[in-house]
Amino acid sequence: MKGFDPATLRTQSQSRMRTALGALALSAIWLALLFWYSDAVLDRFGVRGFVIAAGLAVLTIVLAAMNSILGAPRCPHCRTRLVGSFLPTAIASGKCGFCGKSLEG
Ligand SMILES: [Zn+2]
Repeated sequence: MKGFDPATLRTQSQSRMRTALGALALSAIWLALLFWYSDAVLDRFGVRGFVIAAGLAVLTIVLAAMNSILGAPRCPHCRTRLVGSFLPTAIASGKCGFCGKSLEG
């Protein structure tokens, strides 16, 4: 288990957040286009094609959200995932926001 370096933690969480936001934006554009051209899409690919295309976008959003949550670092002591309000605390103090123990090492 690698140690928690606050700077690395911040960089990692930022890049994960960017990836999640990028996937989210792409999926939103994809869905918007899909619904914008829904008549043409339904004509050409039918309802099944439309549902599959919409499902892909939803799947991408779900995977991006799961990746940002499941990929989050855990406290080595209490195994709490350092997401949401715990992450800024962890980055600022180097301590777990839940059990208060040091994340170093
Ligand atoms: Zn902890």
